[in-house]
Amino acid sequence: MLSPAYELARCPVCNSADSREIAGADDVREEVEALWGFHTRRLRADTPVERLTDRVAFSQAPPLRLVQCVRCETVFRNPRERAFEVTDTYADETPTIETLQSLHDTQRSTFEGQLSRLMDVAGRVGRGLEVGSYAGGFLEAARAAGWHFEGLDVNEPANEFTRALGFTVTAGALTSYRTTQPFDAVAIWNCFDQLPDPRSAARAARALLKPNGVLAIRVPNGAFYATVRQRLGGLTGPIARALLAHNNLLAFPYRHGFTVQSLTLLLEDTGFDVVRTYGDALVPIADEWTRGWAAAEERMIKTTIKALAALDAEGAPWFEIYARARGTPISRPRA
Ligand SMILES: [Zn+2]
Repeated sequence: MLSPAYELARCPVCNSADSREIAGADDVREEVEALWGFHTRRLRADTPVERLTDRVAFSQAPPLRLVQCVRCETVFRNPRERAFEVTDTYADETPTIETLQSLHDTQRSTFEGQLSRLMDVAGRVGRGLEVGSYAGGFLEAARAAGWHFEGLDVNEPANEFTRALGFTVTAGALTSYRTTQPFDAVAIWNCFDQLPDPRSAARAARALLKPNGVLAIRVPNGAFYATVRQRLGGLTGPIARALLAHNNLLAFPYRHGFTVQSLTLLLEDTGFDVVRTYGDALVPIADEWTRGWAAAEERMIKTTIKALAALDAEGAPWFEIYARARGTPISRPRA
């Protein structure tokens, strides 16, 4: 019998009930063990436990079972955690100032890349909202480039840290956020894959944008995970494990694994035209607690993956999608 915290799921993109299992309970357990081994070998023995967050001790518990939609190939948890369980998990985290500062600093240069791709699509600076602003690394990069980005995040300790840097940050979720002034851009770099209902989230983002406003989303690639995890056994095992671990895909700590096609389908259904997709590797995770050889190995692997991913977003471990809001906002009453 399922715990009350779980429910059976249909595909979050196409609503199909037809799916195939790609990782059962034993497979997930093996991936969790492989992940512990991977990171404990790479971290210094004196690493403080809170610095393991988002590395070994994930905010999102591993899935019970993962499936892939037969129709659109989106990867999702089935059964899945109920929506309130997910939101509460993030809202209740209490990151330390040191953890937030470290994330803010580590991610700064990555966010400069994302900002420049957003600029390419938007064409000019303007007002924006970042959903999942957390430690404020993107808000900082955007401010330096002349944008006026605000933050939105369910985690209040993180919001206090970011407000202290001089940013406007609202506590709450995308689907309940309201504004009287639509934005030129909405960016969801860190949490679209974690949102309980991605279709409602895309509609909510559409309602917050001016016509032609840009939605930027970054997500792990479900197709990459599904393909590479098939190689975990046998001779190719160590390579497959490293590819997944370096991209934070081992034990799949996400709710949804979209593909380029399935996310395009979802956005086109909710009032957007997809303008550009971009393949990438996970942001760098090495910090002062990472052993020297491990940081060097990460740099080498990620440089290679980024070069390959730039050529083929569909085969990349992570991808970004940039879409324009169509026509007049859905929420505006007709004259
Ligand atoms: Zn589907």
